[in-house]
Amino acid sequence: MSQSRVETPAERVNRIKREKNPLAILPDIERYAKLGFDAIDKDDLEVRFRAWGLYTQGDGQGARGSQVPYFLLRIRIPGGQLRAHQVRRIADLSEQYARGTLDLTDRQNVQLHYVRIEDVPAIFRTLWEIGLTSQGACGDLVRNVTTCPLAGLEPGELYDTSGLVRELDRMLNGNPAFSDLPRKFKITVTGCPSWCTYPEINDIGLTVVTRRRGRRTEVGFALRVGGGLASRPHLARLLDAFIHPHQVPAVVQAVVSIFRDAEGLRANRAKARMKFLFLDHGWDEKRFLEEIEARLGYRLEPGVPHQPPCHVHRDHVGIHPQKQKGLYYAGFCVTGGRLTPWQYRLLADLAEEFGDGSIRHTIGQNLVIPNIREDRLEAFRKAAEAVQLPLEPSPFRRGIVACTGSQYCKLALTETKQFSEQLTAELERRLPGFGGQVKIHVNGCPNSCGQHWIADIGLQGVRIKQGEETVDGYEFFLGGGVAGRADIARRIPFRVPATEVADAVERVLRAYLAERQEGEVFQDYVRRHTAEELKAILAGERLPQPSGDRTEAGVAD
Ligand code: SF4
Repeated sequence: MSQSRVETPAERVNRIKREKNPLAILPDIERYAKLGFDAIDKDDLEVRFRAWGLYTQGDGQGARGSQVPYFLLRIRIPGGQLRAHQVRRIADLSEQYARGTLDLTDRQNVQLHYVRIEDVPAIFRTLWEIGLTSQGACGDLVRNVTTCPLAGLEPGELYDTSGLVRELDRMLNGNPAFSDLPRKFKITVTGCPSWCTYPEINDIGLTVVTRRRGRRTEVGFALRVGGGLASRPHLARLLDAFIHPHQVPAVVQAVVSIFRDAEGLRANRAKARMKFLFLDHGWDEKRFLEEIEARLGYRLEPGVPHQPPCHVHRDHVGIHPQKQKGLYYAGFCVTGGRLTPWQYRLLADLAEEFGDGSIRHTIGQNLVIPNIREDRLEAFRKAAEAVQLPLEPSPFRRGIVACTGSQYCKLALTETKQFSEQLTAELERRLPGFGGQVKIHVNGCPNSCGQHWIADIGLQGVRIKQGEETVDGYEFFLGGGVAGRADIARRIPFRVPATEVADAVERVLRAYLAERQEGEVFQDYVRRHTAEELKAILAGERLPQPSGDRTEAGVAD
């Protein structure tokens, strides 16, 4: 008798999605809410729930591999745009059902933790009442469509993408045609030249461009496809196409369909993202464009040359003028994306009192209040002190990003949020005069939700043996960047316990300050050193050799 073959993890997930559309399980969720956690079918729990933004979470104490009867619930916020009344209701949900937890994500969403299945229907109803949903926030679906948090406000903006983002969200989220993709799918569309939403690491990155037609200037989009990080990072490829704004929905639909239908992607979930068409399946830009045009039924016009932006920080922290004369926006820095319902509610109050009641989430896990009148700025600054989130943070606070980590993520090897806060405070204490820009991204495992591959200093969680025990540790990745400085960070053969990370970061930053050439940014300093040299610097085996310019951003010690 032949032995039946055990199905692979990918086959199992594909079968579960085929047997029942994950988007169709709302009645089951209602039923489980009455019966309790133990009644939940394993296939629903592990696969289908994700389509509704629900993941089982870690135990909240950082114990790895623990199974607790609680969920992480991710709320989808297209373009990161909210109104004050929505913010208040989310704060209420956090207090009522999620033990006061509230984390901003790097796709402009918000996450609650400790959610019980019994409370999920009530949470869903509240979200629907305020025009929000968790549908499509996780799972093998098109995830939240991101855009510049200053859409419609940014002085240098060429196209307000707010309406386009809403149109894409309506077209894709909940659409049965796209409810069974090989893996998750990420889209960003930006209408300003600063590319703050990282188009290079999305499956589709649309960035605004212009071209001359006679005496007219036409605005359209450049199209990049196949970006992604995880354990095999790949920067999106630029296709030779000029996309008119009205063509965007059809082009996006064509690309998502190519991903959905592509052969060979579903056999291994670790290799099921669209970037693997380029990495493993021999696709190139020409073939990809031909596939899009075949689905559209017409040729796209050729692309136009454009320069990616060069600056390092593309956040929106601080108070800055908008394109509307006399109006300003205020960007608050939320370290590691974690804040309390009390702070969130206070921001809603500020938005109503000083702005027009709108609040924007950024992909840097920060928050923006727009439309503050110039004559009210001083009063705003004073009132904003109560929220206890800095408007003028240190470069370390401004540049830190942290994934969920072991407190709530079951895949995590290390705790990340508290670690990030401590690391930031420690660097602020040790390098108080540091005036440069530095992005430090912290991940609890190789999955790179915190995008360590594109940071100046990327930290990837590892377990490190200390005597009989293993402790949280971090491996270093240096010199990543995006846009005009796009590069994947180099893995340095150096790892230390979490308690020693601040020492190593301080050493490499002091070496940079002492040895940099005139105007040299950290990424370029890293580029002109070998991995072995950088390892020696991190380990304190090679002392800085002062040679360069210390005038601009010297360390006050
Ligand atoms: Fe979890 Fe790893 Fe993603 Fe962090 S990077 S949220 S630890 S899966």
